[in-house]
Amino acid sequence: MRIDILTLFPEMFGGVLHTSMLGRAEANGILEFRVHNIRDWSQNKHHNTDDYAFGGGAGMVMMAQPIFDCMEAVLEGGSARRILMSPRGKTLTPELARELSKEERIVILAGHYEGLDERISELIDEEISIGDYVLTGGELPAMVLVDCLSRFIPGVLGCAESAEDESFSNDGLLEYPQYTRPADFRGRLVPEVLLNGNHAEINKWRRRMSLLKTLEMRPELLERAELSKADIAFLREHGWEKA
Ligand code: SAM
Repeated sequence: MRIDILTLFPEMFGGVLHTSMLGRAEANGILEFRVHNIRDWSQNKHHNTDDYAFGGGAGMVMMAQPIFDCMEAVLEGGSARRILMSPRGKTLTPELARELSKEERIVILAGHYEGLDERISELIDEEISIGDYVLTGGELPAMVLVDCLSRFIPGVLGCAESAEDESFSNDGLLEYPQYTRPADFRGRLVPEVLLNGNHAEINKWRRRMSLLKTLEMRPELLERAELSKADIAFLREHGWEKA
């Protein structure tokens, strides 16, 4: 997949895109990143990219011209799914990330300041938010989106199942507790069931721990989780009352 990012702060992306899993996916040719500085397309003699808002109000608005020219140059007459990072967009979910991971090409536009001239909306297929809060710019949200969708691309993670057996993906439940060596850390013991090699028992324990963690931390997720009759009975024993 090729991912182009349009931003005023390209220097923010280096560490994230070229390190760890994303860096390895890029080195293996699974992902290709191209980060473009919107300022390079400004026709303003001072290379300004923002101006005051018509109608007044605090803060600056990113101008349409550099963004239009940058987007047109990046697309080079080709096509891509074009996304604007925006707090008013639809919220990023595993389902949306999985859907985006199937695209061949994505262009992500990161806003800054008070936002962007509304006329750029015709350049965009959709707006995506990473949550109901406002950040100073779309750079961190763009990195979150790239990281999140990349995990669903075959070969990006070490093992093909990793993205499935996680919080939210596993029937909509949170993940069970994990342990590694030593089995006894300063007298704090790993649950016995994980040490005995009985995988049926381990799976049953993990399912029950997932149910309890979800009940404790995010009980509202249980309303749309995929639950068996045994799951429901277990949760009821632990005080869950289905809405
Ligand atoms: N004035 C805008 C509003 O009230 O909706 C907020 C602008 S914000 C300060 C600047 C830029 O940061 C936005 O254009 C967007 O690209 C990005 N941004 C901020 N919060 C975001 C979020 N929760 N999800 C995605 N992008 C976000």
